Amino acid sequence: MKIENDLVVSIHFGVAEVDGHALDSTENGAPLEYIQGTHYLVPGLEAELAGKEVGDKFDVTLEAEQAYGPFQEELVQQVPRSLFEGVDEIEVGMSFQAETDQGPRTVEVTEVTDETVSIDANHPLAGMALQFVGEVVGVREATAEELAHGHIHQAGSSCGGHSHQEEHECCGGDKSKHAEGESCCGGHGHKEKKEEKSPEGCCGSCH
Ligand code: ZN
Repeated sequence: MKIENDLVVSIHFGVAEVDGHALDSTENGAPLEYIQGTHYLVPGLEAELAGKEVGDKFDVTLEAEQAYGPFQEELVQQVPRSLFEGVDEIEVGMSFQAETDQGPRTVEVTEVTDETVSIDANHPLAGMALQFVGEVVGVREATAEELAHGHIHQAGSSCGGHSHQEEHECCGGDKSKHAEGESCCGGHGHKEKKEEKSPEGCCGSCH
């Protein structure tokens, strides 16, 4: 099966700066699984993988524009230190979730003075040319649910799944709405509850 949009793809890969400094790798863990065409991967890597199949290897160098985008100076902001009231120690390198115009983002503290804190909402790899090397280890059809949600559901997992809770309000991560062992939103009981509550709730319009 060749990789095309809406298929679930598993890859093992490593990513490195172009000078060879390794940044991340799935080598010692589970492969990365995603749905092709959902922009889960950076654009250049998704494009590179299209048409490949299990066993195919890839080795591609991407400019920042095709990876995590250019570094955006306007995403670096100085905010008053008083905003961090209640945080005992603010240190360079700390990161946290912040609400931004583009939705919740991870921001990193890049400078701390007595009065101000500089925070950077750029992706840590923004502005970098990156090399991705790896292998396709799985390609399968997505379930209807996965396509509706735009993300994969691990076999047997329910709404308690970590990424699911983070990405969606769907079901609110409330496992009690699901019968044991049922996957997210597929649960019969869940659908019934949804209709009582709101016709626009989970399952009908997660996206
Ligand atoms: Zn889901």
